[in-house]
Amino acid sequence: MVTAEAIIHLPSLQHNYRYLKSLCGDNPLIAVIKGDAYGHSARDVALALPDADMFAVARIEEAIELRESGVDTEILLLEGCFCLEDLQLASRYQFQLVIHHLSQLEQFENTALDKPISVWLKLDTGMHRVGIQSDEVEYFAKRIARSTNIEGELNFLSHFSCADDLLSQKTQQQISNFSNLTDAYKGKKSIANSAGLLFWPNSHYDVARSGIALYGISPVEDQTGAELNLKPVMTLKTRLISVREHQKSQPVGYGEMWHSTQDTSIGVIAMGYGDGYPRLAPEGTPVWINGRQVPIVGRVSMDMITVDLGSESQDKIGDDVELWGSQLPIEKVAQAIGTIPYELTIKLTQRVVKTFVAL
Ligand SMILES: *Cc1c(COP(=O)(O)O)cnc(C)c1O
Repeated sequence: MVTAEAIIHLPSLQHNYRYLKSLCGDNPLIAVIKGDAYGHSARDVALALPDADMFAVARIEEAIELRESGVDTEILLLEGCFCLEDLQLASRYQFQLVIHHLSQLEQFENTALDKPISVWLKLDTGMHRVGIQSDEVEYFAKRIARSTNIEGELNFLSHFSCADDLLSQKTQQQISNFSNLTDAYKGKKSIANSAGLLFWPNSHYDVARSGIALYGISPVEDQTGAELNLKPVMTLKTRLISVREHQKSQPVGYGEMWHSTQDTSIGVIAMGYGDGYPRLAPEGTPVWINGRQVPIVGRVSMDMITVDLGSESQDKIGDDVELWGSQLPIEKVAQAIGTIPYELTIKLTQRVVKTFVAL
């Protein structure tokens, strides 16, 4: 019997890609599948999207694994290469490269690649994390273009810091900066992430890069994926392994963090921080059992979570429990825990069995 299980619904993934692509007009869409596709399995996600225009990952190891699994779609390395050996590998596997730093430019210039590769110059338009500064763009662009290692035109990308905040002025400023810096160049331009693609139509440029929305999850806090015409791809499930009567004012769990205010029924579910469910989930975080939400009470432990089933509980050992997914929006769970859905799906551990639904 499978206990903790992440059901990955591939038709929903395909729906989301198609829908997001429809927002791009005739332009391509990059499916961001770094971090093992935000915990959904990059290999399975990539193989389920054979018509995707391009994939993007953060580390060359992730890209190589995809190639070794038979994925021959273009793959972009979002932070480029961190050493010379990796640059040679990127050329051999024909990955597309980001350059965001002088050290990367120097490596690119000072090596002869087996095969030239596509290059994206990453600009800092206001996030101030990585990317070259406005006054360096011309200098970098000239030096890269001079190299025999580049294939085709130099492309440009940048990243938003606040696109999920629909009231912030920042995104519009970043868009203007990006246009000012790249208008003179012929290559492709890309700045939109999921929030840009969904909420900032003038951020689309030539190609958008969508991660979180691809998995059916909203990039903004106060809306669910379903409200944005997306379908949740992951449903995290487990089972009730104990139901017990519990007396008023008795504590539950480590540290006696919670005491019941009335006689009730306490359910124990087979899930814990050993599965990647956050230990810091506070009392009241919702869990879905038999058609209703019930609150987590007491501390999340390594293998178990206690929930207050209420005095009228009819729940039985073996009953299904949903932690998030098709019945319980992950956005709501993340909000209760004080984190973002990205962190919830990516942190699931090996112990959670992934089951892929293809139809
Ligand atoms: C992760 C990432 C994305 C995707 O962001 P989402 O918010 O998940 O759509 C896009 N671009 C870059 C550079 C990233 O690192």
